Amino acid sequence: MERVYNFSAGPSMLPLEVLEKVQKELVCYGDSGMSVMEMSHRSKPFEKIIQSAEATLRELMNIPENYKVLFLQGGGSTQFAMIPLNLMNKNNKCDIVLTGQWSKKAKSEALKYGKVNVIASSEDKVFSYIPELDKSKFDPEADYFYITYNNTIYGTRYTELPDTGNVPLVADISSNILSQEIDVSKFGLLFAGAQKNVGPAGVTVIIIREDLIGNAMDITPTMLDYKIHADNASLYNTPPCFAIYVAGLVFEWVKEKGGVKAMQKINEKKAGILYNFLDESDFFKGTVVPKDRSLMNAPFVLPTEELNAKFIKEATVAGFVNLKGHRTVGGMRASIYNAMPVEGVEKLVAFMKKFEMDNK
Ligand SMILES: *Cc1c(COP(=O)(O)O)cnc(C)c1O
Repeated sequence: MERVYNFSAGPSMLPLEVLEKVQKELVCYGDSGMSVMEMSHRSKPFEKIIQSAEATLRELMNIPENYKVLFLQGGGSTQFAMIPLNLMNKNNKCDIVLTGQWSKKAKSEALKYGKVNVIASSEDKVFSYIPELDKSKFDPEADYFYITYNNTIYGTRYTELPDTGNVPLVADISSNILSQEIDVSKFGLLFAGAQKNVGPAGVTVIIIREDLIGNAMDITPTMLDYKIHADNASLYNTPPCFAIYVAGLVFEWVKEKGGVKAMQKINEKKAGILYNFLDESDFFKGTVVPKDRSLMNAPFVLPTEELNAKFIKEATVAGFVNLKGHRTVGGMRASIYNAMPVEGVEKLVAFMKKFEMDNK
């Protein structure tokens, strides 16, 4: 069977070049005589794999020296608890902006450990925009200020970051890491589950400023303490070795493509092709306020439920899969992460044009 264009929100497409390299190295990695899956995490070859993955990521994201990079397990969702456990350590409170399900989940988890001050929410319009932030509501005593940078489900993203002064800004970048330039120095902590733009599920990337490490609450389980993982270079226990290895190959791939800046250009081009079509069409309609549109996740709808269902069905047959939108938004969502080629978006739009002609 031929490979399809996979528009899944996650786990999502990986670059073909990376998959082929993995295939080539799967049974015997280098001169180790074994697969990375069979390798001790304390062996020389694996040490090299994890160290070069970190080095490449640091280079790609221009991560300052005073930040640690951690490769942990538990997905993005474990960070919802880990962040309050480790960071809510002075005044036991945080600020948060609610822009979708992921920030709502982060809020419920943080509420177990302290006070959560909701600065703004876009829930009134099904999270179809990024709310204006009133700076006078920011709590200067908050232990951190939390945002979801790119909202995977609703297809919004911040184009301007809140100025939180001395309060560390914490951002979930699960679905936009490596897709656009991000100034790491503006943040106290960034995290991303791998399965959207980094690699296979199983590893979570954490980028944390060093001064935020080492003050976890007494109740913090050892495995949820950033200090344990930072002191042990992500090797306190067995890390997700294979996922880290593939992530390292994806980092190399991004570097070969010209780095994050070049990736962003391509992503703007891809998103532009899709959004221009949505704006021109009076049949297909984007669901997000144009200025807050994500580069990675583009939700859209047709005039009726029947047409949505018909479109998804026919698209699947034509090799454009996983276009069904999240149940809370309905309609369709095209996730066009780094690994989705421009050609995939061009072909999808051509298919949409034809669907419009045949069904309008
Ligand atoms: C997918 C996603 C998560 C959840 O990640 P898991 O690894 O499944 O826990 C969290 N935040 C955002 C923005 C996501 O897209």
